[in-house]
Amino acid sequence: MGRRWLRPGRWFHSFLAPLLVTLLLGSCHSKEPADLVLLHGRVYKVDSTFGRAQAFAVKDGKIIAVGTDQEISRRYQPHRVIDAMGKAVYPGFIDAHAHFVGYGQSLFAVSLFGCTSFEEVTERVKQFAQAHPNLPWITGRGWDQNKFPGKSFPDNTMLNNLFPTTPVVLERVDGHAVIANARALEIAGVQPGQQLTGGEVETKGGRLTGILVDNAQRLVNARIPSLSATDYEQRLVAAQEHCFAQGLTTVTDCGLNRYDIEMIDSLQKAGKLKMRLYVMMSDNKDNLDYYLPKGPYKTDRLYVKGVKAYADGALGSRGACLLQPYDDKPGWVGFLLSNPAHYDSLAKRLLGTDFQLCTHAIGDSANRVILTVYNKYLGGRNDRRWRIEHAQVINQRDFALFGRGDIIPSVQPTHATSDMYWAGDRLGSERLRGGYAYRQLLEQNGWLPLGTDFPVEDISPFKTFLAAVFRVDAKGYPRRGFQPENALSREETVRGMTIWAARADCLEKEVGSIEPGKKADFIILDKDLMQVAPEEVLQTKVLVTYSGGMPVYQAK
Ligand SMILES: [Zn+2]
Repeated sequence: MGRRWLRPGRWFHSFLAPLLVTLLLGSCHSKEPADLVLLHGRVYKVDSTFGRAQAFAVKDGKIIAVGTDQEISRRYQPHRVIDAMGKAVYPGFIDAHAHFVGYGQSLFAVSLFGCTSFEEVTERVKQFAQAHPNLPWITGRGWDQNKFPGKSFPDNTMLNNLFPTTPVVLERVDGHAVIANARALEIAGVQPGQQLTGGEVETKGGRLTGILVDNAQRLVNARIPSLSATDYEQRLVAAQEHCFAQGLTTVTDCGLNRYDIEMIDSLQKAGKLKMRLYVMMSDNKDNLDYYLPKGPYKTDRLYVKGVKAYADGALGSRGACLLQPYDDKPGWVGFLLSNPAHYDSLAKRLLGTDFQLCTHAIGDSANRVILTVYNKYLGGRNDRRWRIEHAQVINQRDFALFGRGDIIPSVQPTHATSDMYWAGDRLGSERLRGGYAYRQLLEQNGWLPLGTDFPVEDISPFKTFLAAVFRVDAKGYPRRGFQPENALSREETVRGMTIWAARADCLEKEVGSIEPGKKADFIILDKDLMQVAPEEVLQTKVLVTYSGGMPVYQAK
């Protein structure tokens, strides 16, 4: 793909010159002004009929008309023209479940993704420490013991030897466990055998191993010094650049505190952050007492409308709460992260507000508990859009509980293709059929928002597309797809990454489609997702990303 056409300054002087002349000659006083016109596109409107168009016009950051090349060029006198040259144009992608701030932080921590042994983990930490001397704490993310020989949790002996005086905390890939070295445990005052609700301080032979599961992670995480405003900005801007390059124009951040929300708001107001964010506040007293009485907070680019609660942990660390014991850990069913009464009182409290309740639930027991509580308060059909994040393992008897209360299952297709290697070990084949069951979940409400959970998974919407439609991972495995009966169609998947994600965020009137009145958030791709061969999905490139009618990314 030539770069020429992507540079605004050259548009009029290169191959667009004849077109511009036509525009100028054809212009008369009857033409309406527009800031921007896109012509010659395969424009997927992602409207109710999934219709196509060739062209659209933009004014003041919004789409004002969509139609054929002729209709749009006859009617509008634009300042700028984009010639899409027959390429596919889609609404900007929306990630319905991610951790934008966490992702920004992960870009500045040791990346442990893909490590195949704990020796490799410590080696990467060592190199990071040499490259970043004098850091008060070393943090990292992404290890997964399922990739290590023996698949059991590591202990901190090697970290203690390498870093006797610097605290080190390394988060597991799913964010539901950390390994901390002895110095970090000492600073946090963690004691062998320490008990706490919804978490586990792993102790072997009276000695701390460094593994802290779920709520126990907070013991050390609370001691990590907070970032300066400059460092914070640097991380968010870096996260935004990566997102725009992937065609993401709106991201749902699942679980932030007031400090994060206020930082985002001020960076957006200063024009430094252009990413649109839907934010769920984390379920804690400070957030709820501050935001609930005020009601949802809304600006042009920020919508604080959700409350993120956690029912259980993750399947990988056996923290998911199951109805029957794990197949690979007899007698163990995992656990809920809070007393069931907590979810009941939270639902009751939110029912009196305009906030959406969004609860992380992975195991079939956790999902049943939350579906039951939601239905108790929602009392049938409604438009409150309460969500269950992940909805990962569902008992066959419980699927109908989503439809009963219009409860939104918010799913991440790459979880299916990441977990498929070991999910059967945890669940057995019978239960696995109700796992990652996106088609069954889609049938409940007739729509389904899709996300990635980045940085737990890669940020790429193309990986989401590949996993949802073909049920294969980046290596194309398994050839026939993992549980292919739960695959989504291309159209459903595109909707899931755009308009349905917008709807889950209560933003469907503003973003998620290319229709008059919507924000001019759109992307041009070098391949068309509605036609691309499965083996070429991941080679699809975003050529240009627009947010609010302004270019925010151009392919190099
Ligand atoms: Zn998440």
